[in-house]
Amino acid sequence: MPLYLEKIELNALAKQYGTPLYAYSKLSIVEAFKSFDEAFGTRAHTICYATKANSNLAILQILLELGAGFDIVSGGELQRVLEAAKRSAHQGRHIFNPKKIIFSGVGKTYAEIKLALQAGIGCFNIEAFAEIDMINSMAAELDIRAPISLRVNPNVDAKTHPYISTGLKENKFGVPIEEALEIYQYAATLSHLDIIGLDCHIGSQLTEISPYNDALDKLLDLITILASANIFLKHLDIGGGIGIRYNDETLIDPKDWIDTIKSKMAQNQHAKNLEIIIEPGRALVGDAGVLLTTVTLTKENEGKYFAVVDAAMNDLIRPSLYDAWMRIVNTKPSNEIKRIYDVVGPICESTDFLGKNRELALKSEDVLAVLQAGAYSFSMSSNYNSRPRACEVLIDEDKAYIIRERESVESLFALEKELLV
Ligand SMILES: *Cc1c(COP(=O)(O)O)cnc(C)c1O
Repeated sequence: MPLYLEKIELNALAKQYGTPLYAYSKLSIVEAFKSFDEAFGTRAHTICYATKANSNLAILQILLELGAGFDIVSGGELQRVLEAAKRSAHQGRHIFNPKKIIFSGVGKTYAEIKLALQAGIGCFNIEAFAEIDMINSMAAELDIRAPISLRVNPNVDAKTHPYISTGLKENKFGVPIEEALEIYQYAATLSHLDIIGLDCHIGSQLTEISPYNDALDKLLDLITILASANIFLKHLDIGGGIGIRYNDETLIDPKDWIDTIKSKMAQNQHAKNLEIIIEPGRALVGDAGVLLTTVTLTKENEGKYFAVVDAAMNDLIRPSLYDAWMRIVNTKPSNEIKRIYDVVGPICESTDFLGKNRELALKSEDVLAVLQAGAYSFSMSSNYNSRPRACEVLIDEDKAYIIRERESVESLFALEKELLV
């Protein structure tokens, strides 16, 4: 059973709330956050949680009350963070400073830029030359100054799955590091921008430190070049991407990672006093979650066994989208014969599977748990096949609290209009 959820009977939880059901351990999130936070010691830093990993408001409240900032990639995520902040303030639990929000993303629209400027976010992570003029002109219109950082693409191989690698030349993210000086110099001539930082994000689910080191060396060289051009920064943002263990991956120790960042920065006179920003998503919430699903039926097609479950690719798309491997266990010991199953959903797509060739002992109505489903799981879910999205509960010790109700089918068509022509 997953660490942190051992005080809870997952089988009983599934019976109580129905399946598919996402359950998250609060303790796991708190511990993961602390493992990064404490590694910084007294060094000025902000941990900007990558909101897209899991953007449930209660999860955001947990993180903001721990002192996290947020890395957002859309106006919708901005509004989610502001709503979570409003709830924590209203409950008298925490006052959040919107300066802890940084805005990444390759295609920020004018409307999103305006929303972010009005909210007073801490930094725009610029990903394209054209974005500089967009942000400057919107800031001028509002008569305020926009804090900016340039997301450079250091052209390093993150050695992760190509679909979640973002720091290579051929990726759409950021600007080539070779062009950075010129872009900073141009930004410095504009009236309503404050250059405050430099950032990168090289990929997701990284299991080795070396790509970070390669990227950081390049960023530090750039900081030296910028300083000689009289461009001085306030922060350096190394991005996110720290991996978790789905199967038998080696893990990066947060302490080792942050110690290495600190010591490399200490050797550069223009970087040693900069605030450090990191943007972990998966590493903060991935381990915290499980997806519970009930076996609807089992079937055999010419020697191949299938366990058809009530969760599908609309609930959890990582296996279909990235060919991601996620551990699947029966929540109860079983006396059934162990067989090799493909665990599949009921959706009419051959890519609708949660796991292939898994040795499991099970029968219909058993509850299975897909582990490490706290990140990029519910947040990527959809309503394909008119399937209402799952219920989400938060586990604190041995108690469960609903943090998102199961959707109703009626809500799925509530916005649709009668045929009039
Ligand atoms: C998605 C994303 C992250 C977080 O990645 P993880 O692998 O979840 O840590 C950080 N920064 C940016 C810009 C992102 O797009």
